[in-house]
Amino acid sequence: MKSFENSAVKVFLKKGREKSVKNFHPWIFSGAIERITGEFSPGDIVSVFSSDGVFLAKGFINPQSQIRLRILSFLEEPIGPEFFIGRISDAYRYRQSILPARTNAFRVVHGDGDCLSGLVIDKYDSVLVIQLFSKGMEKLRPHLGEWMESVFSPAVILERTESFSLAEEGIPAKKEIIKGKVPVELCVEEHGMVFRVDVWNGQKTGFYLDQRDNRQRLAACSGGKKVLNCFSYSGGFSVAAALQGAITVSGDVSEKALELARQNFKLNGIPLVGHRFEAADVFDFFQNNKEQYEVVILDPPAFIKKRMQILKGARAYQEINRLAMTRVQTNGLMLSCSCSAHLSWDLFQKIVFAAAQQSGRAVQIIGRYGQPPDHPINIYHPEGEYLKSLLLRII
Ligand code: SAH
Repeated sequence: MKSFENSAVKVFLKKGREKSVKNFHPWIFSGAIERITGEFSPGDIVSVFSSDGVFLAKGFINPQSQIRLRILSFLEEPIGPEFFIGRISDAYRYRQSILPARTNAFRVVHGDGDCLSGLVIDKYDSVLVIQLFSKGMEKLRPHLGEWMESVFSPAVILERTESFSLAEEGIPAKKEIIKGKVPVELCVEEHGMVFRVDVWNGQKTGFYLDQRDNRQRLAACSGGKKVLNCFSYSGGFSVAAALQGAITVSGDVSEKALELARQNFKLNGIPLVGHRFEAADVFDFFQNNKEQYEVVILDPPAFIKKRMQILKGARAYQEINRLAMTRVQTNGLMLSCSCSAHLSWDLFQKIVFAAAQQSGRAVQIIGRYGQPPDHPINIYHPEGEYLKSLLLRII
């Protein structure tokens, strides 16, 4: 049986530092390591032992990263192609079991959330988009095509390894077609709505799959209302609201994103008349536009990408939330989101509290939502929770 392991290497943890591994946390930081025996190269799969030699786990080693080891298994099981194909198939089967009707775009593998540290796979109908975030997964890149073939038989596979955090893992960015040809006009279904997805040039892997459930929730309370969708990207929230009869304004700094949004309106049979698409920085938009709305959606990009940006990012969240609140009509609704993993629920709510106070509005929290079930959070890896949304009633 083929193995990907480097069995010549043993990593021993410092005495008393095995606690997090025993709690099934998938990351081991450099400070916990006592010594390493044997020769290895970055990304190898090695075994980890306690200081007195008891087997603890197997995972990717990367001397360049603060996250020195990314654990794949806490069992003494062989790690070869069957291991990865098995994990990916399990993740896929689970998604198929929870997927809403008339939806063919979803995340199949969500990194540590699926115990596959550094691997993200999004499926858009028969197109797979892969992102690699760990040196170990990057090293296994030559096998990806084969694994994808055996689990999905996709028409197209492409890799978009482009995240800001790659340097920390020592991975170069890569954008490459692994199989097939990128469709010129790829359209997917979400709850029966149709969205055009630009998997090659679009943001993330082409679509914000993680807002699927929030789009549904928002649509349910937008019927016939005047809706402002800030940071709209390709208009997901706008389309969902407009299909319920809402009159929408979509604001995004990217004209390309707004062009996709217009196409998405048409694809869903919504005439553009009455709907507006504003290509502007949202902060400027609020400066220049004093209109009031019955529903405001605020889904900014991650203002905090690294821990050291928390203070600066928190100020930006507070300011944008304050501005948005001033534009919500009495008894209107606002959906405020943050996709910064470094921002805790507690701090997020404090920021929204401060924004409410500054805007002088009375605010009720009427919903609190996290990631959809195709973006699972491994309970032993709370760092995997990134999306936080508060549905607010602004009085
Ligand atoms: N709500 C969207 C996803 C939003 S992602 C959805 O459900 O699909 C964040 C968006 O904010 C991106 O489209 C990006 O182009 C836009 N953006 C980033 N900075 C901005 C700014 N300062 N003003 C306006 N839009 C901005």
